Amino acid sequence: MPELPEVESLRLYLISQGVVGRTITDAAADWPGIESTEDGMGGLSQLRGRVIAGIGRVGKNLLVTLDRGVLWLHMGMTGRLAVMRPDDEPLRYARTTFYLDDERRIELDDPRRWAGVRLLESKSEVLAGIGPDALGASLTEEEFIRRVKTRRSPVKSVLMDQSVLAGVGNIYADEALHRAGIRPSRRADRISDSRLADLRRAVRTCLLQALRYIVDHPDERGRPFVVDAYDDRMRLERKKNAVCPDCSAPLRTQKIGGRASYFCPRCQT
Ligand SMILES: [Zn+2]
Repeated sequence: MPELPEVESLRLYLISQGVVGRTITDAAADWPGIESTEDGMGGLSQLRGRVIAGIGRVGKNLLVTLDRGVLWLHMGMTGRLAVMRPDDEPLRYARTTFYLDDERRIELDDPRRWAGVRLLESKSEVLAGIGPDALGASLTEEEFIRRVKTRRSPVKSVLMDQSVLAGVGNIYADEALHRAGIRPSRRADRISDSRLADLRRAVRTCLLQALRYIVDHPDERGRPFVVDAYDDRMRLERKKNAVCPDCSAPLRTQKIGGRASYFCPRCQT
């Protein structure tokens, strides 16, 4: 499932492909029920003639700033984006296509159809209630500690709560907690400030290392490979009989907030 590093890699990819400054000439969409929307395209016909002014991101939300309004993209479970040349065959699960004024097109490919696309007046429509980006400059050490420390829930649930900070999902939460040596079930308000500072650093390190891995391992067309690729970008093996990469103790699993958590009973306290 695309998390923050995967979505950031898509943002960097779109920028590297030179789509900023291009005009969207048309769009096409294929979602369940879309025929019944007013324009038969879920409102995306209004994109015609709008210029891509920039591409931002908060957490897992990709925000394409237009000369008027914002195009919000969320990759769901299996979404990814590809910039296609005129003679490229459409991707097999292309659900939405944005046609550009230089004959290229951007396709949102999504086998499981849980990705989201919406044209908004302003980004505040989707960002209300979402905390600062986990890699953003506004999430200083002081701010991170302040936000996490007021919660009495297990620290892993707090890390994954998008209203506390945006972009950390199940996998990277486990990675960061292992790196910081903190048990996922530990109550957030009982963790010392210095350990929380370690945790913030661990979150950033995990996300940035994963991003580096994705950028360094594109697919054969130079596109970020963001789906089902939980491989060397992760330190914890998420399977039975996995052991701690640091001390070789068998990893334990525990359900926290309904999600499977992997941790080392020796290194994480
Ligand atoms: Zn260990």
